[in-house]
Amino acid sequence: MSNKFTEFQDQVEAIKARCAGGEINEAERDAALRQMRLEDEWWGDAWMLSPRGEWFRKAKGSDSWVRDYPLELVDPASLPPVPFMDLPQIAYAVHNCTRCALHQGRTRAVPGEGPANAAVMFIGEGPGFNEDKQGRPFVGAAGKFLEELLHGIGFKREDVFIANVVKCRPPNNRDPEPDELAACKDYLDRQVELIDPKVIVTLGRFSMYRYFPGASITKIHGQAQRVGNRLVVPMFHPAAALHQPKWRPLLIEDFQKLPQYIEEARAFSQEVDPSSATQLNLF
Ligand code: SF4
Repeated sequence: MSNKFTEFQDQVEAIKARCAGGEINEAERDAALRQMRLEDEWWGDAWMLSPRGEWFRKAKGSDSWVRDYPLELVDPASLPPVPFMDLPQIAYAVHNCTRCALHQGRTRAVPGEGPANAAVMFIGEGPGFNEDKQGRPFVGAAGKFLEELLHGIGFKREDVFIANVVKCRPPNNRDPEPDELAACKDYLDRQVELIDPKVIVTLGRFSMYRYFPGASITKIHGQAQRVGNRLVVPMFHPAAALHQPKWRPLLIEDFQKLPQYIEEARAFSQEVDPSSATQLNLF
């Protein structure tokens, strides 16, 4: 498999080899790698490969670099069934998915983003207008508010994994339909399994129903519940809190509890017994 991404990797390796051979020092190597860019003319994105070997993408219309993985480096011939995929394979499958009608109206699918070992995972509803354009979750006003909430507790957006219950934009931002949620479910199931976060924060009703069917967000928001070896905390969706001023302070207050929940979940996840994995399957 040879393409512009593998060629870019080769160029990066050539610089590393110059360092290994003593031609340049490590600081010069890292400075050179940080300046190298690969422009994706189709989407207008820019890519870079960090000195640690991680891919980052800056979507067209965005000014931030986020961890991502080029789909061009995934071998479609070796894709296993979803329950056995790794994160790049899930992203590849999602981008090519036609399981439900939402694929017909999407510009770009939005698999989710963040570190593969994130302690906290946020699960929202579905991509909106800006997300659909950039292929990233939570951009635009709701995304900015989410970043503010994270900063308020000493976190950066890059510290957490962010995904949605459906990966393609519902027309006019309508609610996802039950058949769409069902069709998309195993992608998210596998992401949760791979990332294995200590705490899952559900944002809005549809991700809350995944764990607490029929619950009322106004009654249980901010309350952590143990599910297997992790805590699940339902919260208001940032977009809803932007439109309903009375929910904004509640969401800020709920976020303040997150660091403590993470500590609690870390403590009990070290003593969890293997049977707790079965509990997860109940949801
Ligand atoms: S919403 Fe999910 S199931 Fe539907 S087409 Fe997109 S990725 Fe596939």
